This record gives sequence, C-alpha cells and structure tokens, in this order.
Amino acid sequence: MKALLVIDMLKDFIDEKGALSVGPVGQEIIPFVKEKIGDFRQKGYPIIFICDNHEKDDKEFDMFPAHCIAQTAGARIIEDLDVKDENKIIKKRRYSAFFGTDLDLYLREKGVDELFLVGVCTNICVLYTAADARNLAYKVNIYKDGVASFDEKAHEFALKEAKNTLGCQLV
Ligand code: ZN
Repeated sequence: MKALLVIDMLKDFIDEKGALSVGPVGQEIIPFVKEKIGDFRQKGYPIIFICDNHEKDDKEFDMFPAHCIAQTAGARIIEDLDVKDENKIIKKRRYSAFFGTDLDLYLREKGVDELFLVGVCTNICVLYTAADARNLAYKVNIYKDGVASFDEKAHEFALKEAKNTLGCQLV
C-alpha cells in the first residue's frame, strides 16, 4: 500500500510572511502538492499531514527563529490544501516525522510499505524523514517537483543524497 506524506506545508514555512518562510519556492509547489493530494485521495491511499509543532522554548530555536509554536496560526496547514477528517495529522518537534511520533505504527497498521514525499524543506524535514523511513525499510519516493527549500544548493544536495545514499527514488 502506498501513502502520501505532506511535510510541513504550514503557514510559518509557506506564507510569504511566515516566521520561517522558505520564500517563493514554497508557494510554487502548492499546485503540485494539491494535485498529488487529489490523486492519492481518488485512489483511496492514506494521506498524512506532517506538522512541525513546537513548544514555546523548544531547543530547535537555538538554531532557527521561533516557528510553528503549538496553538498559533503559524502552525496551521495552509488553507490552499484540502484536509479531510480521515487524513492523519502527525505533530512533530524534530526534523524527522518518525521521531517521537506514532507515524511508523500508523503506517504499519494501514499496511503501508511505500511512501511518497512532498513538502518542505528538502534538505531538512524531507531528508531526515526519508532517512528514518529508509532505516525502517519503507520504499521512499520523493516528488522532485513537490519539494522545496530556501537554500537551492542544499535542495540539490539533499535530492542527490536521498537518491545515492538512502536509495530513494526521485519521481
Ligand atoms: Zn521546526
């Protein structure tokens, strides 16, 4: 069974005025992400929204400006995306969607063995989620046109690393 992971398509990352906006590249992937949500929904495959969700004084803010604080508007999924009640929401505090969450258990119970990733940032939450997924023996596909980063060089590096080192498929 396949599943779509929609990673961090949240106001603080995607809105131009978000607390940690990735810039125009974040806006540019929205139509592609919407299309994939539509495709997976039509086929009846699980769609999981992965949402960065931090404590006010989260340790991650030693490295990055404060963003996606629990209960704030910036932590919400962008309104362009259609989230249905049956879609699983995974809140995470670290880069990987698997760290400290029940994502692996959820996927296994649904019989999912192959993941398709879209979202931001290619070199941070997408890459480290892909790494954990590979370590857990999932097949991982990354939609090249559905991921973005504020850092173009790091974006390119992450795609290469995902393919050549982690064994992900770039699709
Ligand atoms: Zn974060």
